Amino acid sequence: MDEFSFIDAIKPSYYKQSTLIKGIGDDAAVIRSSANDLVTAVDIFVEGVHFKRETMNAFHIGYRALAANLSDLAAMGADPAFYLVGIVIPKSWSDSELKEIFQGMKELADFYQMDLIGGDTVSGKQLTISITVFGYCQKEKVRFRHTAVQGDVVFVTGTLGDSCAGLHVLSEPGEYKNQSYFIKRHRMPSPCLSFVKELQQIPRVTLNDISDGIANEAIEIAQASDVSIHLEEQKIPVSKEFSQFPKELQHKWKYFGGEDFEILGSVAKEEWPLVKMAADRTNTQVTEVGFVTSTEMDAGNVYVHKQGRKVKLDKNGYTHLK
Ligand code: ADP
Ligand code: MG
Repeated sequence: MDEFSFIDAIKPSYYKQSTLIKGIGDDAAVIRSSANDLVTAVDIFVEGVHFKRETMNAFHIGYRALAANLSDLAAMGADPAFYLVGIVIPKSWSDSELKEIFQGMKELADFYQMDLIGGDTVSGKQLTISITVFGYCQKEKVRFRHTAVQGDVVFVTGTLGDSCAGLHVLSEPGEYKNQSYFIKRHRMPSPCLSFVKELQQIPRVTLNDISDGIANEAIEIAQASDVSIHLEEQKIPVSKEFSQFPKELQHKWKYFGGEDFEILGSVAKEEWPLVKMAADRTNTQVTEVGFVTSTEMDAGNVYVHKQGRKVKLDKNGYTHLK
């Protein structure tokens, strides 16, 4: 298949977003500016680095790549609208596999009324997908990570460590309970867009999506906001059959594993009931996992409290307090 018939095959037949003037088919796409803020992000996925053909089929590669981008929009409080796809295609990938990649993206895009508005297609040695997403956000409602303050409740959506558990199930075949659940969490993560949208009435919520493990994301919030974040070990939510995996892996996956694409947030105590209501309305599990303090001395730090002890968390592991 040549580049033109390929583009024809992935070209949507109509536009869903009213601000789109021109999508695929000219030298560039055209979006009419609106009263809302435009939020944009890009992510790159390289075969062998970010995914392997052995554990992901083509459909899931596309699905997961767009889901990761949408998770970034969710963490900004934005509503997804458009995406562009740059793809480097090696000879070893068939036409039908390539269509499947785009089909995986389309499934999520259709659900969120997103238009595919352009991209670039080239050949090369390693399958590489770069997705750029655009979303809209009401003015003054963008959720930055520098806004956490002392006294905030720290919360997390869903359960943590499942994506890593799914990858483990796929790469180390064996007898596992709830196997298909873990695999789905790895291959088809769901960005928390509807939940975040329901938070709009709350004046200040700090959000970060969990693409790199809760430890890393909490440190990002703590550093950007100049506060300390305290997590309570026994409150970190995990799924029902998570305990079947070796203790060491559970620990690693839940704090440092990442790619669960859940949301870590902080909100004023008074507003916490509204967060729980938003979670109820959108069928989202939300758990209070800690709190925020602010002293000049330990700004930017994250601590885990367990069995009456307090340990400092680093991006890649624990640092025990002296
Ligand atoms: P040009 O040569 O003008 O840059 P291209 O031949 O690269 O145009 O692309 C033609 C049209 O197809 C453009 O609208 C471009 O955005 C779109 N397009 C190309 N590759 C992709 C892709 N992988 N995904 C989505 N749209 C694509
Ligand atoms: Mg081009």
